[in-house]
Amino acid sequence: MPSSPDHGDSDSYAAMLAAVQSFHDKHNFKARGGEDLVYRVALMAEELGEIGACVTKGKPPEQLAEECADLLILLLGTGISANVDLNAAFWRKMDELMARPAREVNGRVRVSRFDGVKEPT
Ligand SMILES: [Mg+2]
Repeated sequence: MPSSPDHGDSDSYAAMLAAVQSFHDKHNFKARGGEDLVYRVALMAEELGEIGACVTKGKPPEQLAEECADLLILLLGTGISANVDLNAAFWRKMDELMARPAREVNGRVRVSRFDGVKEPT
């Protein structure tokens, strides 16, 4: 029986980032255009479209999860490509979001700065 790959601490950001770095290294993304940011934005848009199709076509949740994973892997790889620390950026942004107000816009909650937007009466 084939054994599953060892994912180390699969809940850790560091393990996920290391796995994506290994993927980039395996296919030599850096030397072959795989870390070009414009190309990566196009790939992320493609995956976002696949996520949208899952929702609008009523695909099963497992397929939605797979497409979200595709996008997450691309996001982690874009952090590698741009040499930015997405772990730090995530927590910085999360703290900011937690401090922001929420409003209902067209029947849906929206958390934003609402700069220059009047409070609804
Ligand atoms: Mg996909």
